[in-house]
Amino acid sequence: MKTYNFSAGPAMLPEDVMKIAQAEFCNFKDSGSGLVELSHRGKQFTEVIDRAVANVKELMKVSDDYSVMFIQGGASMQFAMLAMNLLGDKVADYADTGVWSNKAYKEAANLGKARIVCSSKEDKYAYIPDFAKWEATPADAAYLHITSNNTVAGTQYRTFPKVDKNVPLIADMSSDIMSREVNVDDFGMIYAGAQKNLGPSGMAVVIMRNDLLERTPANLPTMLKYSTYSENNSLYNTPPTFAIYLLALVTDWIKAQGGIAAIEKINDAKAAKLYDFLDSSAYYSTPVQKDSRSRMNVVWRLPSEELDAQFVKEATAAGLTQLKGHRIVGGCRASIYNAMPMAGVDALIDFMKDFEKRNG
Ligand SMILES: *Cc1c(COP(=O)(O)O)cnc(C)c1O
Repeated sequence: MKTYNFSAGPAMLPEDVMKIAQAEFCNFKDSGSGLVELSHRGKQFTEVIDRAVANVKELMKVSDDYSVMFIQGGASMQFAMLAMNLLGDKVADYADTGVWSNKAYKEAANLGKARIVCSSKEDKYAYIPDFAKWEATPADAAYLHITSNNTVAGTQYRTFPKVDKNVPLIADMSSDIMSREVNVDDFGMIYAGAQKNLGPSGMAVVIMRNDLLERTPANLPTMLKYSTYSENNSLYNTPPTFAIYLLALVTDWIKAQGGIAAIEKINDAKAAKLYDFLDSSAYYSTPVQKDSRSRMNVVWRLPSEELDAQFVKEATAAGLTQLKGHRIVGGCRASIYNAMPMAGVDALIDFMKDFEKRNG
């Protein structure tokens, strides 16, 4: 049976990528060894990591003013690491738009001064608060932190807030990096856990403007300083070689699809189809406000919690897996990242129609 995996993360990877990784697993490019068995300083892996960095730069049009780094510990490590490096004695501003942004805020507040400038928490994070209602970020703030796509609540920024030119805008793009075009120059730093759109879990991609590297306090442990990664091409210690290899393959694949602009068109079409169906239905409903809807994580509910559970169970049996909503919000969630083909969305909508017919 053909299955489609709608997991929020770790999430499905492009089938072509999985097949290349499988074919090369035991014997990487006629080296006689698997990639995981090769030295991170050797010729073969050097080519892989250089390609991974070059792909990120090319796809996201990253200028030479920025460093691209691969850092262990996923996005959650970045919550603390960015505060350790950039906070100093200043105040960092946080937009509280979901469980992940709230966690990011807490890490900064634990280390220094952090402030919430807007929140939709009282409304179960069902929208991104209107920028006009945010508390203004002063020119001497350490940074303003946002979460571009809220994986759990299913919301996404359409545009990004404007800040004083002295204040770096920092975005956790874990669940929508490379799903749409963004202007990297608008950001001081972008980071993303790899396991949604870029590869396996346990690693973050960090894109940081080089002038910010100077802010790091001298007494931070070596492995927690961004400069350690930027100065050593992420090879100060033994990096997660397999994760970097898969990221190189995934970004090769994005290039082969025509780049981010082409992927964005497909993502828009996939999400539009699913939301159009939800809007046309009196049986399924989504709690997310229209102007804040995520094109990556689509959440909805059935008329009762019992039906939510039955839907997830039957969908799984039909090969549509991991549709259970996050434990905090309940209901259902389909994560339709770059790797999810339109056929998966079509199969899901067909199943939803059929389920409604049988149980509506
Ligand atoms: C998944 C996710 C995280 C957490 O990533 P880890 O790699 O598990 O630390 C953080 N932020 C967002 C927006 C996410 O979707």
